[in-house]
Amino acid sequence: MADPDPDPDAVTLRLIASGVVQAYQLTAQGEALSVPYPASLQRGLDRLTLARLSVGKRPPAGVPELLRWCAEPLGEWMSVRELDANDEVLLSDGRPTLVCEELVVRAPDVEAEIFENEMITEVMRISRAAGSEESYAAFRRFVIEHPVLSEIQFQEALLRAELSVLAAQLGECYCTPPVEYQQDGCVVTCSDCGNLLLFGSEGYECKDIRCPRGTAPQIGRRLEMKTGVRSLVAPVQRFVAAPGRAELRLYRKLGEIGVDVELWPNFDAYDLRGQVFSWVLVGSGRERLGESFPPRAETPSDPA
Ligand SMILES: [Zn+2]
Repeated sequence: MADPDPDPDAVTLRLIASGVVQAYQLTAQGEALSVPYPASLQRGLDRLTLARLSVGKRPPAGVPELLRWCAEPLGEWMSVRELDANDEVLLSDGRPTLVCEELVVRAPDVEAEIFENEMITEVMRISRAAGSEESYAAFRRFVIEHPVLSEIQFQEALLRAELSVLAAQLGECYCTPPVEYQQDGCVVTCSDCGNLLLFGSEGYECKDIRCPRGTAPQIGRRLEMKTGVRSLVAPVQRFVAAPGRAELRLYRKLGEIGVDVELWPNFDAYDLRGQVFSWVLVGSGRERLGESFPPRAETPSDPA
């Protein structure tokens, strides 16, 4: 999972800056800026609204007012500890300023990290409320094992009791495969990692930097778009599914040598927990990728 943000106001500012640049690019292409607004702009507004209400200050009435504020000095409507830019503005003459562009460049993944953090937090909250630790683990395992799937597979998964409580969250984790991955009404998946393959001038390419492929990627499955296809949204693919494959590999290897293993027990206190005699082993697949067994041993009294 991504690290928690050190300064919530700085994250809000980066989201707003990112949204300002996206809004400018849209209008520069002749498109009207209307609902739904760029996601980072809307999330930046939501966070700024909460932050200002919590200290008794009036929030902007909406995106149009927020954009007007962006032309005012930052110090008048934001407080950001790490930034010495209180006199700076994000918009000048209707264009993003250099400061605004720098904020976006400095944190290109901020939106993805926030989405992933908020999604996982929400999934934990719902699983806890439902008293279903299995739901949390089933959710993680499902997105790792199904980076691309048909609509029927998706709907069948929602019939499973442990996943049905997380139907809305699972829905948010998937989107229609981007058009650049579609060819002749189909998409194809990588036989190694299961992600979508992109067809380029040199044949198929797998864009997953953690894909274990040795040479050119091989086609795993071909799915017709007309039957309905879902693929993971980028933040879930990057921050949950890709690192999770190592956790699953470790889980399977431990299973093969006879260790009874539990994935993401106790709402992710560990990545996995196994028991050998009375010893409890805990480990993180992300740390241990490529290392030998066993994972570190904790105190024997740790309840399994
Ligand atoms: Zn791959």
